[in-house]
Amino acid sequence: MSDRPTLTSTSGAPFPTNETSRTAGARGPLTVEDHQLFEKLAHQNRERIPERVVHAKGWGLQGHFTVTHDITQYTCAKVFSQVGKRTEVLSRWSTVAGERGAADAERDVRGFSLKFYTEDGNWDMVGNNTPVFFMRDAYKFPDFIRTQKRHPKTNLRSPEAMFDFWAGVPESVHQVTILMSDRGIPKNPAHMNGYGSHTFSMWNSDGARFWVKFHFITQQGHKTLTDAEAIEIIGNTRESYQEDLWDMVTNGNPPKWALKIQVMPEAEAAEVSYNPFDLTKVWPHADYPLIDVGELTMDTIPENYFQMVENAAYNVSNVVPGIGFSPDKMLQARIFSYADAHRYRLGTHYEALPANAPKQVDVQHYHKDGAMRFFTNDFGNPDAYYEPNQYGGPVADPRVEEPPLRIDTDAIVARHAHEESEADYVQPRALYEKVLSDAERDRLHRNMAGGMAPVSDEVKDRWLRILEKVHPDYASGVRKALETGDHGSPALPVTDGTPLEAAE
Ligand code: NDP
Repeated sequence: MSDRPTLTSTSGAPFPTNETSRTAGARGPLTVEDHQLFEKLAHQNRERIPERVVHAKGWGLQGHFTVTHDITQYTCAKVFSQVGKRTEVLSRWSTVAGERGAADAERDVRGFSLKFYTEDGNWDMVGNNTPVFFMRDAYKFPDFIRTQKRHPKTNLRSPEAMFDFWAGVPESVHQVTILMSDRGIPKNPAHMNGYGSHTFSMWNSDGARFWVKFHFITQQGHKTLTDAEAIEIIGNTRESYQEDLWDMVTNGNPPKWALKIQVMPEAEAAEVSYNPFDLTKVWPHADYPLIDVGELTMDTIPENYFQMVENAAYNVSNVVPGIGFSPDKMLQARIFSYADAHRYRLGTHYEALPANAPKQVDVQHYHKDGAMRFFTNDFGNPDAYYEPNQYGGPVADPRVEEPPLRIDTDAIVARHAHEESEADYVQPRALYEKVLSDAERDRLHRNMAGGMAPVSDEVKDRWLRILEKVHPDYASGVRKALETGDHGSPALPVTDGTPLEAAE
């Protein structure tokens, strides 16, 4: 007898062998009663779950957030209640378009998600590494994602579809400019910022509401890859982000970010010259300076990737008292779609999984049963299974109700015309003209031209007309790079952009 633990079936029965099947004769056939063999085969068949439709490829760490500055004048959220307070956090960073096996160093927006296990339940920050997004209305989101995924017939990525869509959605030019700039390929997650991107709200203990933007500023500094560098890395390894994060943490240099917020008093939203709830816009720093809040340190590699990172389910709807939403239409749609995606991908009780279960508070709800109800089914008293009840079961606490949301008193629920105006070009122009250096602008022209090179002339013209509205030098710089062929290949898995109809 060995002193090693005994191998068992999933029901705990000891296994007599893990190498020889039970057969009728020495050469077979198998007997149907070899249930232990069939259990083993059946489990392998079930080891994969549906990958996320977007953000399928991800990397995660565990760590903590520490409050460094008092912001209780803006919020009563317990996670910010006192300087020095520490809260456990689970992060997941991701690319958007690539599948589970995609290369890490592709040009793409990065997801930047954080789960804060607070005293009032989980607060999830489900952001990106960009402060804006491609559109401001969720109706366009599924179509946009289709253009990033594979063509239904060629099964290849299609730049024709990407640029055709962007050219039809001019407000996308702000995000596309950031995507095609140096920041479009971060070296790894440690060297990029995270942004809540949407406008959220906070309220304080007096019931005053503030609009808020969240910024997680990398303390490692920005490091990015050119297309050529990324292609070389991808040629050597598709897992460069996972490798870098592993090295940083195991070498004792865990990545850190400073959390800062921009704060707008509630009434000012009606006064600023842009729609502060439009996801294609930032709030200029000069108008709303960054306010220090705290520090995020991600210093622990999860013991099991699948359990803690693949099973991590971030919900825009996971807010806690003191933190709330805003009228941002994209945010409102995400409030529905994230929990819906997780119920489909992980199952009804996905929030009871170790990655998602709150750590500082008991979950007390009356949702019952269903697949994988593997946690306790009552509150200690089996009679309290409905509400109201006479048995001391949990009751709601009206003290945590958020203050009423003030909306325009003339507002009516209607389908408002899609706003499209000069305002869509002001901020990308500021980025192009004031923020980017000459060298960064030059690389932007060439990256954009590399992405557009396979696209039809008609789509090129439509997109160049939009770049022209941002800045004439932008359009002429990209046009020149296209004409001279002075651009590399994009670090994207792309194919010939010719529309199939024309090619056949
Ligand atoms: P500021 O000059 O105050 O801010 C410029 C911002 O641009 C900084 O936050 C900086 O990010 C960011 N930035 C610097 N280099 C790059 C780059 N190569 N690619 C993308 N972003 C970069 O001006 P404003 O606040 O008025 O913003 C001007 C433009 O800057 C905006 O229209 C927007 O396009 C872009 N921007 C603005 C942000 C904001 O929240 N106001 C955030 C990010 C970009 P950091 O300091 O975080 O490294």
